Amino acid sequence: MKYFAGIDVGSTAIKVAVVDEEGKLAGVHVAPSGSLFHKNSLEALNNLLGKLSLQREDVRYLIATGYGRKLFKEADDSISEITANAIGAFEAGKAHGGVRTIINIGGQDSKAIQIDNNGHVVNFAMNDKCAAGTGRFLDVAARNLDLDLEDLGDCHFQGSGAPLTINSTCTVFAESEIIGLLAKGHGKAEIIAGIHYSIASRTVRLAKRVGIEDRVYFDGGPALNKGLVAALQDELGRELVVPEHPQTTTAFGAAMLARSEFMDEQSLEKV
Ligand code: ADP
Repeated sequence: MKYFAGIDVGSTAIKVAVVDEEGKLAGVHVAPSGSLFHKNSLEALNNLLGKLSLQREDVRYLIATGYGRKLFKEADDSISEITANAIGAFEAGKAHGGVRTIINIGGQDSKAIQIDNNGHVVNFAMNDKCAAGTGRFLDVAARNLDLDLEDLGDCHFQGSGAPLTINSTCTVFAESEIIGLLAKGHGKAEIIAGIHYSIASRTVRLAKRVGIEDRVYFDGGPALNKGLVAALQDELGRELVVPEHPQTTTAFGAAMLARSEFMDEQSLEKV
């Protein structure tokens, strides 16, 4: 069996996906990016190969994507995360009847991508200037509220009052706002729900710039947070498709492209 890999060297996390020659997902792995992007990417790849009992030679073609993709010299090719995300969401979205809009929230940016019925990118918009609508905002909030990142989603639903309004449009000011709300005796659940709604409304504004068409696919690490998913659905006024592995969709897209580029080269060699 031949295998193909995609590695998404993100600002916050490195994601690896391996697919087999039929395009079936063999496995995924997520590791922190840290400060040593290249070393940590190699380790992440080797970790996944070890888990799957595969050798490096079993991977016939590897495509790197993401913020630090150029640092991963071992890759056979590299592509932008917009393209890789579109391919991954298009493929994973087939099981949900097809998707046309992708919302991706990453560690330091957020994107909205519109794709056509064949998975080609029609339009996209990106926010990489401000951390307030990104995973970074959630990381800061979790730290201020003394909560684990993984618990923010459940906490969202535990409040007895309505979500609070978070006025700060900047992560640094939001940090003082959160501390101020805690000092006034407000509950963590109402604060975190407010933060989720604040991220959700910014994200909807971004998505409206590309046009929102059904179905809407939500991915990136923050899509693991069920509270944020609920707030985003509420603000959008429609259901979201959240895949089984939201954080690794872009790596999966790169792996699927690696597979098709390899197959295309092989068929050219036969001619
Ligand atoms: P990037 O590609 O920019 O590195 P990711 O798509 O990997 O970003 O998302 C990273 C973000 O995902 C983190 O900043 C964090 O806020 C969020 N995240 C990661 N794991 C979880 C989790 N288990 N639950 C909720 N949020 C998470």
